[in-house]
Amino acid sequence: MSVFTKIISGEIPSYKIAENDEFFAFLDINPNAPGHTLCVPKVEENKIFDLEAGVYGRLMEFSRKVAIALEKEVTCKRVGMAVVGLEVPHVHVHLIPLRDMEDMRFINKVSLSKEEMSDISTRVHTRFLLG
Ligand code: AMP
Repeated sequence: MSVFTKIISGEIPSYKIAENDEFFAFLDINPNAPGHTLCVPKVEENKIFDLEAGVYGRLMEFSRKVAIALEKEVTCKRVGMAVVGLEVPHVHVHLIPLRDMEDMRFINKVSLSKEEMSDISTRVHTRFLLG
């Protein structure tokens, strides 16, 4: 069972951003930038291009909606998207609110307090629900 499956089930806590019947989004615990979010299918699959085409398309649409909510609530020039998966073998789309190109480098990290993470998740979650 992946660490993300444990997050989805609530066994491991997370800063939730959005959820529907198929997908879950939460803040990355080691963010490149404030608001760095992961969008994950609830059914565990290792590699994104092994997803069934319909699931892949719906994951992109879910990620698009999350990105729109992020862009409204987190100061940034735009939201970048990346798929890596070298650390956690459970499909996830990284959404990163970008202030500059450096924010796409996964070696540049920011440190946020629990209060800051909680505040971002509450605001973006509320914005996502408003649609
Ligand atoms: P990668 O598999 O290389 O795309 O990276 C996995 C990402 O998952 C990294 O950015 C980690 O910071 C993030 N991550 C790992 N464990 C957790 C967790 N428990 N909660 C939130 N994010 C996590």
